[in-house]
Amino acid sequence: MRYAIIADIHANLAAFTVVLKDIDGRGGVEEVWCLGDVVGYGPDPHQCIELLCRYNHVCIAGNHDWAAIGKLDTSDFNPDAAAACRWTGQQLTPEDIHYLDSLSLVIERGDFTLVHGSPREPVWEYLLSTTSASENFACFQSQFCLVGHSHVPLIFEYGEAGVCSLSQFPAEGVVGLARNRLIINPGGVGQPRDGDPRASYAIYDSEAGTISLYRIPYNIGITQARMVEYGLPVRLVARLNYGM
Ligand code: ZN
Repeated sequence: MRYAIIADIHANLAAFTVVLKDIDGRGGVEEVWCLGDVVGYGPDPHQCIELLCRYNHVCIAGNHDWAAIGKLDTSDFNPDAAAACRWTGQQLTPEDIHYLDSLSLVIERGDFTLVHGSPREPVWEYLLSTTSASENFACFQSQFCLVGHSHVPLIFEYGEAGVCSLSQFPAEGVVGLARNRLIINPGGVGQPRDGDPRASYAIYDSEAGTISLYRIPYNIGITQARMVEYGLPVRLVARLNYGM
């Protein structure tokens, strides 16, 4: 069986559409695993929820998903994120709000635990260092954990003698799911932050025992033009060019 692992769509319909097309082009998947932040920042929150719901999927709640419906306080958001969050809330239908409200913080899927931020702090914690990752390996039971939130494709490995290592997850990279426990971030679909503006996602192949990462170019200008049209913060528009 094959599963798509996607995170941080952030209401970027142009990016999300090309990722779904790429998944279909590779023969499709049994199920889509979405690690949260379907909305926030981008111009098409309703359309992205609607499109995701056309696929057989599970989805985790991200901080932006719950902030947009008032379920989380935005006082920790920077002013641009908070402004985009208020705008996002106004675009959602009652069905969208119900959908986002119903999302879980943690989902177990076979050998995988799915969260948005980290197993210890599912909504807020950014997993970017081996220090925080090694503490988090004690906070989930399964062999593997999938996280989003930082928008950076990374692999943390809990090796022999409890030593945690960190490696980048490059485009076309393949990680074998062997003995060691791993925490994997597939990068962001709609707002990459590793300096590569292409949309990022992964496919888990349970028979091969691998997770492969893909980077897909999309028409950034379409998303940016819509953000400008809706008066979303200019810094959020510009960062899409740089993938930062
Ligand atoms: Zn995010």
